[in-house]
Amino acid sequence: MFNLNNLIRPHILTMEPYSSARDEYKGTTGIFLDANENSFGSITPEKFNRYPDPYQWDLKRKIAQIKSVKKEQIILGNGSDEIIDLIYRLFCKPGNDHVIIMPPTYGMYEVSASVNDVQIKKVSLKNDFQMDPEAVLTAIDQQTKIIWICSPNNPTGNLLKLDHILEILTSFPGIVVIDEAYIDFSPFKSLTSQLHKFPNLIVIQTFSKAWGLASLRLGMGFASEEIIFYLNKIKPPYNINGLTQSKILSALEDESHKNRMVNSLLEQKKHLAKALEKLSLVLEIYPSDANFLLVKTADGKKIYDYLVSEGIIIRDRSKVKLCEGCLRITVGTEKENATLISKLQEYSHKVFL
Ligand SMILES: *Cc1c(COP(=O)(O)O)cnc(C)c1O
Repeated sequence: MFNLNNLIRPHILTMEPYSSARDEYKGTTGIFLDANENSFGSITPEKFNRYPDPYQWDLKRKIAQIKSVKKEQIILGNGSDEIIDLIYRLFCKPGNDHVIIMPPTYGMYEVSASVNDVQIKKVSLKNDFQMDPEAVLTAIDQQTKIIWICSPNNPTGNLLKLDHILEILTSFPGIVVIDEAYIDFSPFKSLTSQLHKFPNLIVIQTFSKAWGLASLRLGMGFASEEIIFYLNKIKPPYNINGLTQSKILSALEDESHKNRMVNSLLEQKKHLAKALEKLSLVLEIYPSDANFLLVKTADGKKIYDYLVSEGIIIRDRSKVKLCEGCLRITVGTEKENATLISKLQEYSHKVFL
């Protein structure tokens, strides 16, 4: 059944990783003449002349506490996007291996596969945006290394059913990645609680959404210590810059602030959905466990173009299979949402006059 050593690309098992100056000497005091840094300081008022901790231990200790995992079960990436790429490079042999994705879903799984010359098999979600576990299991072949599951899913907004996810985790002897970028907005518990049961599980989360720190670029990956060991082996040595490490470390001191923001957002999401419902151009608003709404309209592209001309930018998903006519609207502030609604009301009047 599951055997990590058979899944990891053989040359990575045996390769010698880069050994940084900070790998070879771990002390924090002394005269540091080992890394060819600038001993005189930085050209900026703040000092950035020293390389940051390559394993971000202060940050991981804090994240481990909050997420109830061991610090050795965490990999941090320059955004989740870097973690997605590292997972491909750890497990998938270019030109040979396959992965399964379930469209409509997040675009990076496919882009990153293309960059790495990995073949994608698409098993579409069903009309209710839930997965078809039988179809997924049938699509697995000898070359299938990874199954990507996004829950809550982007752009549909819904959580995938837990029993479906567990069925995949139990039946597939390869790697199952659950992308939980939107988990903080959902009533559902993270699958990090299942890590001890499934050695093939990788959970990814991000600071870009609920924490409001997209610009700092920090993604989290959670898995067994063995998988994390190998991801560390292949990552760029200093992939998380020092400014990001220190800013996120102080942000983590105030998790309650994040929770308050999430609650305000959920409140606004309710109001926005109610207001959208009243518009004749809205055909359906799909249930959302995320910070956005997927909205079916009579003419997605026209509405999108109109809103852009009015200075409001949303995401046009109207050409995406299963999302025909749909627009993806990120929940804004009360004022932003009110402006959006009044512009849509104006549009309705024009169109239906
Ligand atoms: C926004 C988003 C991410 C976050 O990516 P970062 O690189 O961490 O900003 C990851 N997965 C999904 C599905 C997303 O929608």
